[in-house]
Amino acid sequence: MAISPYLEVRDLSVTFPARHDEYKAVDGVSFDLARGEILALVGESGSGKSVTSLAIMKLLPEAARWTGQIRVNGVDIAPKDRRSMEDIRGAKVGMIFQEPMTSLNPVLTIARQMTEGLRRHKSLSGKQAAAVARAALLDVGITDPDRIMAQFPHQLSGGMRQRVLIAAAITLQPDILLADEPTTALDVTAQSQVLDLLVDLKSRLGAGILLVTHDIGVVAETADRVAVMRGGRILETGLVEDVLTAPQHAYTKGLLASHLTLEKALAMRSTGNRSLVL
Ligand code: ADP
Ligand code: MG
Repeated sequence: MAISPYLEVRDLSVTFPARHDEYKAVDGVSFDLARGEILALVGESGSGKSVTSLAIMKLLPEAARWTGQIRVNGVDIAPKDRRSMEDIRGAKVGMIFQEPMTSLNPVLTIARQMTEGLRRHKSLSGKQAAAVARAALLDVGITDPDRIMAQFPHQLSGGMRQRVLIAAAITLQPDILLADEPTTALDVTAQSQVLDLLVDLKSRLGAGILLVTHDIGVVAETADRVAVMRGGRILETGLVEDVLTAPQHAYTKGLLASHLTLEKALAMRSTGNRSLVL
């Protein structure tokens, strides 16, 4: 018997009410995500990437309507109420967002926020939860977890906050992780550290990661498979090495071309040969 993928999205459409008609933000999107792989959803701003990932978690805004099928570990989420979705979120499907500050409560210490989910989802005591949180922080490369746990979010750098959120997500040992532009708000160094961390989590925990990004460079560096989105649709999908070396769609070719130009320009800058760029 074939092993079914952990996350199955079939013919997903999401509409928002608009002045005269309705607006289709996601239009017939289908993809699978298995454990142990990184699937990148790449496309320009407004292409429907975030709406797709919110739909998977049933976290769409009130006004949105969706159709299609979403199965998590073979279970259809359509009939699930708020309570059972809360159990799925975190425990089976972890989430990391672009701006870590919005996912953290400014008035609670890191220790408090990291242990809350563990106490709820895993029924651990405060002391047990703190030990798990501490281990997770070490796991994401934070060498002084006790100091970090005593701090408030604003006392940490952006890169550190994103690490904390990834650590919080992995304490619950989710089977898949939805990461929506997890490195977009970070500086270049923190960005590559967080991407390395995601690749590491994939291999060590066997988690499946849906990596939402507008940056084809991030896809090249990190993902196993890629789905290119535009205007709410998936234009093409395949192994990263296939899609990036032999793109089928003109839009994908454009994405790659603009990136290569950028790379060339940067290379020229670093060799001091600026006359070619200007
Ligand atoms: P991105 O690919 O940049 O993540 P989104 O998935 O956020 O794009 O948005 C896709 C489209 O859906 C956009 O055109 C956006 O304006 C629209 N949209 C997103 N959220 C809402 C909302 N709450 N109400 C109306 N339209 C929305
Ligand atoms: Mg988005």
